[in-house]
Amino acid sequence: MDSHFDLSVKEMKDYGYKIVDIIVSHFSDIEKKKPVMKASREEMDVVFLQEAPENGTSADEVLNFVMKNVIPNSALSSHPKSFSFVPGPSNFISTMADSLATGFNIFSGGWIISPAAAELEIVTINWLLKMFNFPVRKGGGIFTSGGSMANLTALTTARRIKCGEDFSKAIIYLSDQAHSSNIKAIRVLGFKKEQIRIIPTDIEFKFSINKLKNEIAKDRLNGKQPFCIIATAGTTNTGTVDPLDTIADICEKENLWMHIDGAYGAAAILSKKGSRILRGIERADSLTVDPHKWFFQPYEIGCLLVKDKSWLSNTFSEKPEYLRDIEGNESEINFYDYGIQLTRRFRALKLYMSIKTYGLNTFKKAISYNIDLTEETEDLLRKSKNWEIVSPATLAIINFRYNPLDIQLSEKELDTLNQEISSRVVASKESFLVTTVLQNQVVIRMCLINPKTTIKHIKDTLNQCDVFAKEVLLEWDK
Ligand SMILES: *Cc1c(COP(=O)(O)O)cnc(C)c1O
Repeated sequence: MDSHFDLSVKEMKDYGYKIVDIIVSHFSDIEKKKPVMKASREEMDVVFLQEAPENGTSADEVLNFVMKNVIPNSALSSHPKSFSFVPGPSNFISTMADSLATGFNIFSGGWIISPAAAELEIVTINWLLKMFNFPVRKGGGIFTSGGSMANLTALTTARRIKCGEDFSKAIIYLSDQAHSSNIKAIRVLGFKKEQIRIIPTDIEFKFSINKLKNEIAKDRLNGKQPFCIIATAGTTNTGTVDPLDTIADICEKENLWMHIDGAYGAAAILSKKGSRILRGIERADSLTVDPHKWFFQPYEIGCLLVKDKSWLSNTFSEKPEYLRDIEGNESEINFYDYGIQLTRRFRALKLYMSIKTYGLNTFKKAISYNIDLTEETEDLLRKSKNWEIVSPATLAIINFRYNPLDIQLSEKELDTLNQEISSRVVASKESFLVTTVLQNQVVIRMCLINPKTTIKHIKDTLNQCDVFAKEVLLEWDK
């Protein structure tokens, strides 16, 4: 062996092919498995806790151990009956593309090191800019680890461009349905609690515009500096899109930065219905999209798009001496100048290869299918005497609760009943189906962005819910 970590060519091939076989059967046989996995810290400690071993074990043995203990103890977010949070359907081409990017350990920080990686980031960002009707020449963006980092990158930029060095009086506005990563980002940036305005939402879970305007006016009268509104294009709870055009009008009039968090819903722009609902998205100064959600990419890839790419370089560019030699010309972008990371993995490759291989049409069809399936689910629920829709099908998310017509139940009983239904479904491991809270009601939430999910999967799960509901009601003597 010439280097400390080398395996022979045969060993590498045997090992590699084994892993490819495992991944392929994961994609082809996923329905034979159950989507839910639950284990306590104690149970996991029993299996895994040990000191770092001084001496190695054979590669096969370690792989077998991992296949026996690690993979089966992880929930399958790409399972067609995984309905909770935001599923991660992923796709095979991007999975292999990630292996290539990792295999060659391609550094995606600076142009001079990997010009093709930088070029593919420029090209795929351009595809996204065009999709959202952002200016392609002037606009720009960057891939991040996910939506949270894209939001942090956006708010750092917004503050830099709107406030400069002094942000002591700056005020930022978001709705009570905005994603928690925005609050995290605001805190990371060092804003005080008094600088955040959380605006209530209306009956449809949209930003209450009147309350937003009142707060902005009040802050101005108090000598504060309103600087940014965060609108959401597809809230995680209900898929709701804020009134983007109205918020854009306010931002224009008040000279505020408009950030749109489209981590969940922006991908719906690729469908006819979605693009209607997302009207106004092109007016944002910055937009978060999250390809590892509804663009079917494996983790991790998030993305921030901006109207003017110089905003990013003005915010993030620093020039230490050791990077002097690698500064190229303006058009040869060094992505370390556009965001927080210097060393970055090659995220653009999987988006590039999957869009090239499948074509945008495949993405369009899948997203339209997801939206139609959610509407079909709504019809199904409305035809039943037992179910009540709490938030209708919106960008592939639907919220509902068990509330039988012929039995009188209090709000508290309904909450407990729906919580119980979900707990029993999850305990069966057949479907991943958890609750959320909307307007103080415990409701069951489904997010249907997996193209493998069919109406049969949904009917099976609803039937299972029915059985558990009757079980609970029987236990209660109702
Ligand atoms: C998922 C989500 C995020 C966070 O994205 P991550 O990729 O999980 O970091 C932010 N905003 C919204 C609306 C989301 O749905």
